[in-house]
Amino acid sequence: MPEIRVGAGHDLHRLEPGHRLVLAGVEIPAERGAVGHSDADVVLHAVTDAILGAAALGDIGRLFPNTDPAYRDADSGLFLSEAVRLAGLAGFEIGNVDTTVILEEPLLAPHIDGMRTKLADVLGIPVGRVSIKAKTGEQIESIGRGEALACEAVVLLARS
Ligand code: MG
Repeated sequence: MPEIRVGAGHDLHRLEPGHRLVLAGVEIPAERGAVGHSDADVVLHAVTDAILGAAALGDIGRLFPNTDPAYRDADSGLFLSEAVRLAGLAGFEIGNVDTTVILEEPLLAPHIDGMRTKLADVLGIPVGRVSIKAKTGEQIESIGRGEALACEAVVLLARS
């Protein structure tokens, strides 16, 4: 049986006016954007951590410290590309990726296909193996009040 690995990732960022909202590498028009050292892309951060977790290679904060000026306003596609490269060096290829974005507004439905295409592109796998789902925070707690957004990710890796 080929070696199969599962990895889980989670990320959360605050939302504030005057910031960009970038999800899976796609900029989405919104009144409030995500606050972070990099571009604060919760989807790419959660998927990066899921890949690093599956390959037992650490986490995004260890590889790309948010105290490093090199990563200020960085395109998080760089973090994900590096995680894919490191997993590849460890002998793993990506099977599939499933994510859930939790965000009160805006509605993500019109953007999901574009986000999947962009994420698949960075991962270097067919879009049919990449899932992005969206939920709201039901108007309660920080996410429901529009103060934050989060993303959960699960990744399958297989020893190639
Ligand atoms: Mg993050």
